[in-house]
Amino acid sequence: MASNPKQKTAIVVGAGVGGIATAARLASAGFSVTVLEKNTFTGGRCSLLTHEGYRFDQGPSLLLLPGLFAETFADLNTSLSAEGVELLKCDPNYNMWFGDGEKFELSSDTAVMKREIEKWEGKDGFERYLSWLAEAHRHYEISVREVLHKKLYEHLQSPQTKLSKASVCAASV
Ligand SMILES: Cc1cc2nc3c(=O)[nH]c(=O)nc-3n(C[C@H](O)[C@H](O)[C@H](O)COP(=O)(O)OP(=O)(O)OC[C@H]3O[C@@H](n4cnc5c(N)ncnc54)[C@H](O)[C@@H]3O)c2cc1C
Repeated sequence: MASNPKQKTAIVVGAGVGGIATAARLASAGFSVTVLEKNTFTGGRCSLLTHEGYRFDQGPSLLLLPGLFAETFADLNTSLSAEGVELLKCDPNYNMWFGDGEKFELSSDTAVMKREIEKWEGKDGFERYLSWLAEAHRHYEISVREVLHKKLYEHLQSPQTKLSKASVCAASV
């Protein structure tokens, strides 16, 4: 509860990364924030399982949106490095193992990716991969600009959202 009766209050449901980032931003903006979490641990899908002394990621293994993490810390007047978080590059990034023992190695080193893709997809594969990367980059830029950096009520008022709500209603009749 807020000790100052004039202080604005907020309740955030869920202590996954989204809820925690929202709660931290609200607290930084002066709100008294209560976070409600149904589990006995925080992190949601971004938490860990432990079994017989081993730790397993529940979800993420790749840091996909480093810019947005940096933005969140900057909004809280700090940074990842100021909080003691040092990001280390893993090489290889990721190995996919097939049942027969073969593997596909994913790397941020373009020469390694070229070698791996050509092994599975032939000579033309790398060019297709580059065009897929360019398309994925366009999708990334659009989703950051049009979704992640927009407020929820802007989405609710957008003609596209109204249209998709109308289609959902029409489809459910
Ligand atoms: C297998 C897998 C692999 C993934 N890999 C990656 C990856 O490599 N890189 C990456 O960036 N992302 C990855 N993701 C996605 C990433 O994990 C999620 O996008 C992110 O963790 C979602 O965070 P969130 O806070 O939005 O939701 P969640 O983590 O789902 O948090 C929601 C929280 O709300 C709580 N909650 C729900 N309902 C209630 C209620 N009624 N009352 C109280 N509490 C409630 C839940 O218990 C949970 O703690 C992966 C996800 C999965 C499942």
